[in-house]
Formats: sequence, structure tokens, C-alpha cells
Amino acid sequence: MRFIPKNRITPDAFQAAVNGVTSYNNLYGNQKQALLKVLIEEQSGLCAYCNQPVTVNTATVEHFICQSHSPSFDLKYFNLIAVCRGNPGNNVDLKHCDKYRAEKYKNDYFVPFFLFDKCLTQNLNSPNPFFDVEYNPRTQLFSGRIIPRNQNMQGYPRNESRIREAIDVLNLNAQVLVEARKQKWYTVEDTREKLGLTWEDLFQNYLNMPGAGFSEFILLAIRKKIQEP
Ligand SMILES: [Zn+2]
Repeated sequence: MRFIPKNRITPDAFQAAVNGVTSYNNLYGNQKQALLKVLIEEQSGLCAYCNQPVTVNTATVEHFICQSHSPSFDLKYFNLIAVCRGNPGNNVDLKHCDKYRAEKYKNDYFVPFFLFDKCLTQNLNSPNPFFDVEYNPRTQLFSGRIIPRNQNMQGYPRNESRIREAIDVLNLNAQVLVEARKQKWYTVEDTREKLGLTWEDLFQNYLNMPGAGFSEFILLAIRKKIQEP
């Protein structure tokens, strides 16, 4: 998960996309696409939950507070985010993001709002306050799994159990995501070797690439390499 810089005022592009329509289900296909485009752009091209790259063809609109619980929010800008399709297929345990939640939990679980606030690695001394990556200092390997940060960060009260619950409900450690993170990490290590970069250089590079797939995972992983070599 990652911080999404939502404007306080509904952006003109969003307003234009939904112009004159009062309910999400009344939008035409091209309007839904235009709306998705606005959301994807403000999310730097990544799924709001798993952070894999998405496009208008691979993403869907997620209602943060779902339509059945609060119909009046169903076309409100602040309530809409773009998410991936969660690995469509028949086996629910291979799915993730809202698809997994919808099938397993019938949309009766709300991702805590606080998990989006400041959910961002800002520099080496200010890592993501909620999430960390699973790392084995003995083997120096990453499992590809994300875990709750186990200490208070940036003044937030300890929320380990609620963060663990959100990871579970969205299945953010689905096998397909764990493998994708590991593959991404291998390419990061390769790039570092080929270009002769330091971990600190790489960290800076990724700070400047918010649209890189799994960028929070990569930043937290590089930070481990710097702090626990
Ligand atoms: Zn996703």
C-alpha cells in the first residue's frame, strides 16, 4: 500500500469524466475509462493496494467505502482509487487486492484510512511507518513478503495487528505477488552490479521513481541492505 496524493478539491479532469452523472453504475464505458485514467495518474501508475503497475486496461475502480454500504459516496472523488484486477482466475487463494477481499470477506472489511496516510518512504531515516519487508540477515535474502512494522513510527500508535489484518484481507502476500517482488529485486541487484552503483545511489534513484512497480518494497529492501549489510 502506498500514500495517494488526493487533492482536497475534486480535479477538473475527474469532474469532466463523470460530468452530469450521479451514480457510478450509470457511467458509460468511456466515462469509466476516463475516470480510471485520472486515478491511475495520481497513483503514479500503480495499484493502490499491491503497487504493481496498472493501466486503464488492467485496473478497475475501487470504492474505498463500498457502494452497498454508502451509495452516496459511490461517485465521490475522495472515495475512489484504482486497483489491479487481483489475478483473475478461479482459485480464490491466488487472488489479491479487492477481488480477494470481495470473495473472502464480502466487502464487510474496510481498509483503515490511516494506512494510506504518510504510507511512504521519504528518506533513509524516514521509512514507511506501517510496512516492512521480510529479510533474513543470516542468509541476506528477502522472502518477497511484506510485514507490519513492529515499532511505533512517526508518532503513530502501535497498530501491528490491524496492519497484519489488512495484509491478510487483501492477500498482499499472495504467491504471485511474492514471486513478482522477488523477480523485481533480482533485477534491482543486477542493475546495481551492471552500473556499479552503491546501495545509497540506488535508494535515491528509486525515491525519484514513484511509478516503478513495487517501489515501496524496493526502497525498504535497499534500506535493509544499507542498514543491515
Ligand atoms: Zn493490486
